[in-house]
Amino acid sequence: MGQDRATDEVLEFIWSEREAGRSSVTALLEIEEVKEEADRSTLDAMSAEGLITVMGDVVTLTNTGETLAREAIRRHRLAERLLTEVLAMDPETVEKNACSFEHTLTPEVAESICTLLGHPPTCPHGLPIPKGNCCIATKSEITPLVNPLDQLKVGESGRIIFIVSKQHTRLDKLSTLGIVPGSTVHVHQKRPAFVLQIEETTLALDADIVKEIYVKRVAQ
Ligand SMILES: [Zn+2]
Ligand SMILES: [Zn+2]
Repeated sequence: MGQDRATDEVLEFIWSEREAGRSSVTALLEIEEVKEEADRSTLDAMSAEGLITVMGDVVTLTNTGETLAREAIRRHRLAERLLTEVLAMDPETVEKNACSFEHTLTPEVAESICTLLGHPPTCPHGLPIPKGNCCIATKSEITPLVNPLDQLKVGESGRIIFIVSKQHTRLDKLSTLGIVPGSTVHVHQKRPAFVLQIEETTLALDADIVKEIYVKRVAQ
């Protein structure tokens, strides 16, 4: 389907508005990024194309619209992860680039990026990244560049690339322990408890926290 950029953007905003519990047409058309690319006639065209349904001030996605929005959101949030954590761009540059970058991603490239990043569950803003086929099928020719820390073997080290916890208190606690993107951790022991070493400190961490820390393996 020949889908243009404005359509993609509008679908993404309908999706993220819905995540925030909103579905108002008026509010949607007031969003700065939407205003730049779309107006009421865009919505009418999308409605005629069968992507959305507008009833009064309420906009909803049709099944087709849902599928396309899901893919667009997935590409956008994967692009954010890639630009933020792997390429270490600052937030402003990421915002500028994630939107244009996502439109150049084919489904295959999106899967490669997802796999490379260890199938991250959320974007840097903590919003969920819809799963792709790669996240469900485990076999892949691509070796992830980034993995959840619990996948490292005893004796291996990893540099922290990102942490996906949505709990701020947990993130704060981890950062006071020096567990922040950029630091290197060494897996000391995995059972019965997960013990890691960071600098001169040895720490035991809960299994569910360990899964939220994504690292890139490093040679000792
Ligand atoms: Zn985001
Ligand atoms: Zn994936």
